Amino acid sequence: MTADPVLTLGDLATWSRGGVSLAVLGHPIRHSVSPAMHNAALAELARDDARFVDWRYFRFEVPPEDLRRALELLHRGDFHGVNLTVPHKVLAFGRMAAIDPAARPAGAVNTLIRRADGWHGFNTDGYGLAAALRENLGCDLAGAHVVLLGAGGAARGAAVECLQRRCASLTLINRTRANLDSLLELLAPLAGGIPVMGLDPASADFARLFPSGTLVINATSAGLKATDPLPVNLAALPAPAAVFDMIYNPPETPLLRAAAARGIPTANGLAMLVHQGAKALEHWTGVSATRTAPAMAKAARAALAR
Ligand code: NDP
Repeated sequence: MTADPVLTLGDLATWSRGGVSLAVLGHPIRHSVSPAMHNAALAELARDDARFVDWRYFRFEVPPEDLRRALELLHRGDFHGVNLTVPHKVLAFGRMAAIDPAARPAGAVNTLIRRADGWHGFNTDGYGLAAALRENLGCDLAGAHVVLLGAGGAARGAAVECLQRRCASLTLINRTRANLDSLLELLAPLAGGIPVMGLDPASADFARLFPSGTLVINATSAGLKATDPLPVNLAALPAPAAVFDMIYNPPETPLLRAAAARGIPTANGLAMLVHQGAKALEHWTGVSATRTAPAMAKAARAALAR
């Protein structure tokens, strides 16, 4: 069996592969580049260390109603680790035998490690975001004035990371006010004196409110399609500023194009994807994320170009 096919619950029910197996579960999962990234990194590790020769990473199409059963079968099938992507990160949270304290405030897990008592949950998305901002934009979340667009799962994780790393201020902007208010409520006990506020995207020239040095992070799905509207109007964002878009496919969203046209430094979400993956692999193998990230980045770029 190759690492590439899209597998299902039926394949799990009869799983009998020897060696160390890892999996990613999602719905849909067909376009995930995680198998390409992880198998490239594992192949590189195996060249120097025979322990990794029989490690493989598989993708499973699992709708939300089958998540409980899939986690049971993966545990019974002796899978060593699991990644979760849309829509499972929040759904799986209540199904863990233990949760890393750093992952608790986000209420979501993306990396599971098999233990005798069940799955232990971690979240590497925040690490991935912080590493990508440093690598691509030279930005540190500590001390940054952050404008975060969105109030879904990715925004929640990013907001918690900003507060845990002690940003200077956090402003949330989201299309649906009720979702924005729910996120503000969740963050209130975590703020620890950091100013956290919510804004309507339609606010006239909102950007004038922000100090220079503002970091804008897009955690909405606006931009996945070329015809999507800009999630905010960047006019009057004081320089210097930087814009990071979590979307990596397409590589340049309308938001990044608008920012680049104003001379604002930009980066897409590819490095975040890579670094969250490398950190997950570190949890499973004990090998530093910085060692495997370059092989993952190369594989991700190749997979996206196909
Ligand atoms: P969710 O579905 O949980 O949230 C979607 C968010 O986008 C909501 O805030 C929603 O607003 C907003 N939104 C959707 N469409 C529009 C629009 N047309 N205009 C303005 N706002 C809009 O998704 P996730 O939080 O899981 O993911 C968000 C994005 O982040 C995705 O593009 C995903 O690919 C990317 N991502 C990238 C990662 C990486 O490693 N690079 C990791 C995780 C996510 P509303 O509340 O109004 O519905």
